Amino acid sequence: MADSESPSPSTTDNNSKKKNKRGGLEIQGYKIEGLSIGGQETCVIFPGLNLAFDIGRCPQRAIAQDFLFISHGHMDHIGGLPMYVATRGLFSMKPPTIFVPKAIEEHVQKLFDVHRAMDQSELKHTLVALDVGEEIYIRKDLKVKAFKTYHGIPSQGYVIYSVKQKLKPEYLGRSGNEIKDLKFSGVEITDTVTSAEIAFTGDTMADFIVDPANSEVLRAKILVMECTFLENTIPVEHAREYGHIHLAEVIQYAELFQNKAILLIHFSARYQVDGSDYFVQGLRVDPHLILFHREFEPSKEIG
Ligand SMILES: [Zn+2]
Ligand SMILES: [Zn+2]
Repeated sequence: MADSESPSPSTTDNNSKKKNKRGGLEIQGYKIEGLSIGGQETCVIFPGLNLAFDIGRCPQRAIAQDFLFISHGHMDHIGGLPMYVATRGLFSMKPPTIFVPKAIEEHVQKLFDVHRAMDQSELKHTLVALDVGEEIYIRKDLKVKAFKTYHGIPSQGYVIYSVKQKLKPEYLGRSGNEIKDLKFSGVEITDTVTSAEIAFTGDTMADFIVDPANSEVLRAKILVMECTFLENTIPVEHAREYGHIHLAEVIQYAELFQNKAILLIHFSARYQVDGSDYFVQGLRVDPHLILFHREFEPSKEIG
């Protein structure tokens, strides 16, 4: 079953987003690259974290990322997977770690088996099946957790958390030596501080927004959310029928989002970048809403 739709444009507020040299964006201190057009290809890359969400058709800049998170099995999100692994092998790069929904793990294994049989290469990688609610560390200070999305086929989103050790308040102001002594004596001197940094939805209906289990998703610093349909000529029911979100729903639920920035992606291919402005007229969403061109060129500020 093919996925349906989407691309588009946009923008942001004064400080939280700026265009970087390579044509990507910088939001809340994170560089973001990639591209997203509904039904065609979606790959969202955070080079500073060495990871990408979905692989689309495997854009060149995704290959350098060691970690890949696949939201679901629609071709516009997973089509480039063998190419991603093969290209890293070709360049003798470290075998990547690929996270997939548990429900498609076996299919993905078979996919690689078929490619191995065809080209007699190893296609080295580590495949990790992550179920909704499960979390795993990808770095000492970084963990990921899968969350439930609603797309008609097995799907899930991911939240990336930063995990830091902070000195307990009662030890602030102590000298370095004192701290060292306390630590060596076995005293727990730090608190673990976890913060949701990035949430990526993949394709989903707006139902994920009101799922109580997903409250952390709505509090992540940056929410990368699909929003396939933008204008009123397409009814919300149509978006739901295809398992997607309509901008009208984002507006409807605006008060629920506590994110610092929301990056809307996966716009229908029917939308032309230049004609998008009127779609967002009257839109007042706090936090600032960022709409993207297909190549992640910001076009306009909203908010
Ligand atoms: Zn899809
Ligand atoms: Zn899609």
